[in-house]
Amino acid sequence: MAAAAAAKIVEVRETTRVERIGAHSHIRGLGLDDSLEARHVSQGMVGQVSARRAVGIVLHMIRDGRIAGRAVLLAGQPGTGKTAIATALAAALGQDTPFTSMAGSEIYSLEMSKTEAITQAIRKSIGVRIKEESEIIEGEVVEVQIERPASGVGTKVGKLILKTTDMETVYDLGGKMIESLLKEKVQSGDVITIDKATGKITRLGRSFARARDYDATGQQTRFVQCPEGELQKRKEVVHTVTLHEIDVINSRTHGFLALFSGDTGEIKPEVREQINGKVAEWREEGKAEIIPGVLFIDEVHMLDIECFSFLNRALENEMSPIVIMATNRGVTKIRGTNYKSPHGIPLDLLDRTIIVPTQPYDEKELREILSIRCEEEDCQMSDNALTVLTRICKETSLRYGMQLIMTSSLIARKRKAHEVDVEDIKRAYQLFFDEGRSVQFLREYQQEFMFNEMDDKEEMEI
Ligand code: ATP
Repeated sequence: MAAAAAAKIVEVRETTRVERIGAHSHIRGLGLDDSLEARHVSQGMVGQVSARRAVGIVLHMIRDGRIAGRAVLLAGQPGTGKTAIATALAAALGQDTPFTSMAGSEIYSLEMSKTEAITQAIRKSIGVRIKEESEIIEGEVVEVQIERPASGVGTKVGKLILKTTDMETVYDLGGKMIESLLKEKVQSGDVITIDKATGKITRLGRSFARARDYDATGQQTRFVQCPEGELQKRKEVVHTVTLHEIDVINSRTHGFLALFSGDTGEIKPEVREQINGKVAEWREEGKAEIIPGVLFIDEVHMLDIECFSFLNRALENEMSPIVIMATNRGVTKIRGTNYKSPHGIPLDLLDRTIIVPTQPYDEKELREILSIRCEEEDCQMSDNALTVLTRICKETSLRYGMQLIMTSSLIARKRKAHEVDVEDIKRAYQLFFDEGRSVQFLREYQQEFMFNEMDDKEEMEI
């Protein structure tokens, strides 16, 4: 029985572990030292030193709140770590700075227009830090009256008379406060605190002034000196929410539950205008602060000219996040036009963008990345196998090589080995094609496939 229970626990643990491994789960930060120099291998990042250093400077600008409305482009060949670097930046920024990640093609959704999708992504990337003063009142209870409504059904209502220094105040009690009063068994002569923001009542003890009455009856109770002077204590509560969250909560058609399902649909411009006005008011009163976060758009060449113009205009707004884009395209057509431009991005947007190039990895770096991934995926691999895998990565792609870690490890497990060896890598390589071999295979056997639209001379574009 005990053994069965233990086995079950192990099983559950393993499922959670598997779920947590994502393509970039080994990355924990940019791996920079205090002077912003990139350590060669640190926080799961390997090489790509100058790109990491450049993004480190961007990180500092974000932290200082000085870089709202800028755009950064990570440009380089596939598999050179552009997404990895953006993920590292998000990790380095920490929880409090909003970071939104999307692929360019995500804006083509049936549920909302392209510009609405971009607007939502932008507003998800702007944080509003709201400061609220919570008042905590401390005093001696003079009287508590709790009544049921005349009909006998519905919520209870009540009054509380509280004495602070030389003043008695009557509080109308809401449902939460009544609940809290009953839970704490509050009665006349008790010293309590009321948190006006949350309605929480805490009983501190009996009032010192009544100590003698209780002494006479011999009751044991804790006596509290009812404080003299100003009895109100103020405490500051800070929440950080995104502009998008405020939009959704205030949009009558959706309601806050939409935040959990993500099914927010389009939000009316009037709602946004109202929210912007309200936030501006809070900022003026010193109640709120804007935190520009980061919007990461991978495969940015998938956006079309309309989106680029919209994005360009959005960057001018003072409440705009930093936009980090990534692309692996060279000179290519701007979607929705017949014009070509570097990276498929219109020149007016490129003009305001700082470009950070990423370089292909050498063999030593590839080996290092693969070895970090082996550790992340709990896979033991012999030195020779790692050498072969590194060579495969060099010939094909880093992503393909990474896929072979898990597949070859399953093959090794099947032959009851604890370590992946060269033969397991070979087997996985034969079973699963990389892109090059797959294209070759299609060329040879295209006649046998259905709906083949490619003629021999036509170049494939993926
Ligand atoms: P694409 O242009 O195809 O989108 P990319 O440049 O965004 O490619 P990534 O997805 O970041 O490439 O990299 C491929 C894989 O290699 C990912 O799992 C990533 O975490 C890992 N990787 C890339 N570069 C590094 C690095 N410098 N250090 C550690 N891991 C890396």
